Amino acid sequence: VRPGSTAEVAAVVRACAAAGVAMVPQGGNTGLVGGAVAAGQLIINLGRMNNIREVDAADFTMTVEAGAVLADVQAAAEVANRLFPLSLAAEGSCQIGGNLATNAGGTGVLRYGNMRELTLGLEVVLPSGEVWDGLRRLRKDNTGYDLKHMFIGGEGTLGIITAAVLKLFPLSVSSATAFVGLPDVASALAVFERLRPATGDQLTTFELLTRPCIDMVLAHIPGAVDPLSAPYQAYALIELTSSQQDSGLEQLLERELAAAIEAGTVADAVLARSQAQRASLWHLREAIPEAQKPEGASVKNDISVPVSKVAEFIARAGTAVQQAVPGIRLVSFGHIGDGNIHFNLSQPVGADSAAFLARWDELTGLVSDVAESLGGSFSAEHGIGLVKRSDLARRREPVELALLRQVKQALDPRGLMNPGKMLVDEKPP
Ligand SMILES: Cc1cc2nc3c(=O)[nH]c(=O)nc-3n(C[C@H](O)[C@H](O)[C@H](O)COP(=O)(O)OP(=O)(O)OC[C@H]3O[C@@H](n4cnc5c(N)ncnc54)[C@H](O)[C@@H]3O)c2cc1C
Repeated sequence: VRPGSTAEVAAVVRACAAAGVAMVPQGGNTGLVGGAVAAGQLIINLGRMNNIREVDAADFTMTVEAGAVLADVQAAAEVANRLFPLSLAAEGSCQIGGNLATNAGGTGVLRYGNMRELTLGLEVVLPSGEVWDGLRRLRKDNTGYDLKHMFIGGEGTLGIITAAVLKLFPLSVSSATAFVGLPDVASALAVFERLRPATGDQLTTFELLTRPCIDMVLAHIPGAVDPLSAPYQAYALIELTSSQQDSGLEQLLERELAAAIEAGTVADAVLARSQAQRASLWHLREAIPEAQKPEGASVKNDISVPVSKVAEFIARAGTAVQQAVPGIRLVSFGHIGDGNIHFNLSQPVGADSAAFLARWDELTGLVSDVAESLGGSFSAEHGIGLVKRSDLARRREPVELALLRQVKQALDPRGLMNPGKMLVDEKPP
């Protein structure tokens, strides 16, 4: 069903509750862990609830319906000379409700935080069909448990988000973007440590790419070119942004990168001199998942570790999977400024795809073990859904799993809201 208002969502949920019918909330269906997949349940798609209810430039807030597409929300903020900073490659189709339910991250987390940090209030239809109106636009509101945080990252298992109050920021009007060749991954961290304090609050993006990513993009994405003249083990895509027109960001970035070259942590660098150049540098980063497809089967990991441990993680996890599958190809990239690496693994050249994929659990297990030993997480920004339920069950302490079940039981005692997702022992009715 595709309801067009909060009242219609509530009516559908009440009817489902009365008939004992299970429901799956669905946004743009771009989630990567199967959270919006239905198997015999009623899909409630929020796509028609796409109104921007209000943009309040003075409050630096906007109130939007859950089905609003992320790119449209960004555009509506910009019209009011404001920035809504959540940004990810699926922004043309993912929806605010899905972003909230997965606590989405993306490329601006370093400076602005993830969806949890960008939200002030929520409106939610509970599994009973009651509506919780928590659409408060307050920066300070210590009045009991902060209920919105159960639904943010709740993957649609506790209720259906119908609207949200989001935080806005001054619009970025100038930027400096660099693509940097590095001797190794450890150097990326050295450059990050230099740039963050040197650029104040203006470092917005610090993304890692490794050489196999570039090779795949050059091989499979038409028009892609290597901006540097020699190959390097690792690369960083770096962007500074400012709300001031004459911010001097380019000179600042140039100066700091020159000092990093001097110190040996940067081997070569190119700065975007036009919007077209900036777009082509970003394209190298954003095209990686697409470019990986023609290389055969791949096993995906979305891990996080403390930022200082990223290089050690990549080295140790690489050794572990190469010992398990000789010839496996490491396609590591991601939000290194947040300690979040998409540690993807492509099958050895010429290997049998099905046999490789049959080892999914073994390979993700090896990778997650290394991340955990460094104090990291097996799911950084994609959530649990269907795909990582057994990891959650295995890797979290009984006391934490019991708390999760008690919350589920308190809000959805009949298990009708997105059953079978996140918690492994919860059976669809
Ligand atoms: C190319 C690509 C790049 C991506 N990059 C990133 C990235 O950089 N960072 C990142 O964090 N994620 C990324 N993702 C995954 C990310 O989780 C989703 O893109 C997005 O946040 C999900 O939004 P959606 O509207 O598509 O949700 P869906 O896929 O429809 O749903 C996702 C989950 O949310 C629930 N849900 C949806 N709407 C509601 C609602 N209104 N109320 C309650 N529950 C709801 C669903 O039941 C499901 O469990 C990427 C995905 C793709 C395809």
